[in-house]
Amino acid sequence: MNRKTATSALVIFFCAIGNLNAWSEHSIFMHSALSGMKEIAGAAPVAAETLDSFLAKESKGLAQLLSEEESWARANIEGYPARPDDLAFDRSTETNLRKRFLYALRVNPEAKMAMALQLMPGQDPAGRTFLTPRDVSVYKNPIWLAKIRFAQIRPGERVAPLEILSTAADEPDLGLDIGLFEDSGTEWGSKMGFGKIPFGNANLEYSSQAPFHMTFYHEAGIVYMLAGFLKHTYPEVRVRQFYALSRYAFRTGHPYWGYRFMGMGLHYVTDLTQPYHARVLPGIGVLRMLWINLMDIAGRHQPKLDAIQLVSNRHSAIENFYQVILHRDSVAHDMNHPYWKATVDESKDLSYGKFGRKYLKDVVTQESESRADALDSKLTDLIPSNLVSDPSVEFAVANAGKDLTKVMEKEKPGSVDQLSLVLADFAASFGSHSRNFIRAVLALEDAYASSNAK
Ligand SMILES: [Zn+2]
Repeated sequence: MNRKTATSALVIFFCAIGNLNAWSEHSIFMHSALSGMKEIAGAAPVAAETLDSFLAKESKGLAQLLSEEESWARANIEGYPARPDDLAFDRSTETNLRKRFLYALRVNPEAKMAMALQLMPGQDPAGRTFLTPRDVSVYKNPIWLAKIRFAQIRPGERVAPLEILSTAADEPDLGLDIGLFEDSGTEWGSKMGFGKIPFGNANLEYSSQAPFHMTFYHEAGIVYMLAGFLKHTYPEVRVRQFYALSRYAFRTGHPYWGYRFMGMGLHYVTDLTQPYHARVLPGIGVLRMLWINLMDIAGRHQPKLDAIQLVSNRHSAIENFYQVILHRDSVAHDMNHPYWKATVDESKDLSYGKFGRKYLKDVVTQESESRADALDSKLTDLIPSNLVSDPSVEFAVANAGKDLTKVMEKEKPGSVDQLSLVLADFAASFGSHSRNFIRAVLALEDAYASSNAK
């Protein structure tokens, strides 16, 4: 087989991914997962502070921190693409402090970084002004945010750490990682040093987010051989950045930013608890993948197109299922669903070991990968076949305007409870890994330096 041809064929697999968030509305889940954690739920409210104020007060310390972090990443993160030196916080020619900071982090320099709280469904805004999706997100047309309410907070206003964290846990999905590649067509993409987009369609606004929110540590060797671009993923970079920034902000007396950076780091940790973010094609074995690939090279493209469509549909179905239940129960204040009980359950937290530099690879994604095939087959068992097992159907179109849980119950009574029980395990992991990350950020010792932490 011609390796170059095979590689380009595998590249095409990835055109299907990138448009999907992992856990729709992390904030609802996060709020539940941390609602019983005494370090967070029991912490006193802190004064909100604008990013500009934080940066103005800490510009010197941040220059040093970010320089040390760059050295650390170059020495310790495998495949780390070095940050161009002219983006260094203290060497940048950018005069706007906020932009200089965002460039130094290599996130979207136009990220809104709004002073906002993402309200829970049914939550009273307590007299706060509502912000629009365009106030908080860089997306040109963020229609999926229309159902979410954002309330403005003012500098100095005291805000509960639980609310700061759960809001920030969704923030990276508001466009922080948009347009960061040379071929993204943005003014800043060519300056970032990330090269061309490793997978996905560079022309789609949301595509460039995927390599920062997905990672594939546990594919077969032959898959890496044919598709080396799989290694060009950066959740680990983001988790480390926000871990370090959060610790710095707490240390220097900026608890609002301590919690906010912590929440942003949590987003990347928890994205990886979703098997569709930690495995290329759940439900499709290596041999079949290679067969599909060979067929594609031989000019028979249908098996590949079908595989992409099915995986994409199942990914969408699981998101949709969660979203329906999260909203329904939040509004009704009904916390009896297995999810909610699982997210707050701390009994397994310690069994995963402490969060550390290998935690994403050896713990979070290992677990997601091991569950991927079983989840895929449960989805095909419990969700009507026309929605997840027919490659001629686009889930989003077929399910538009419908309540997935009602459709499922009509076809197979009891299927909603069955799928809920399966997904409760994922909810439990979402909670445990979130709390373990938080414990690491709040600990005195550096989790990345400890030898027995994973
Ligand atoms: Zn994400």
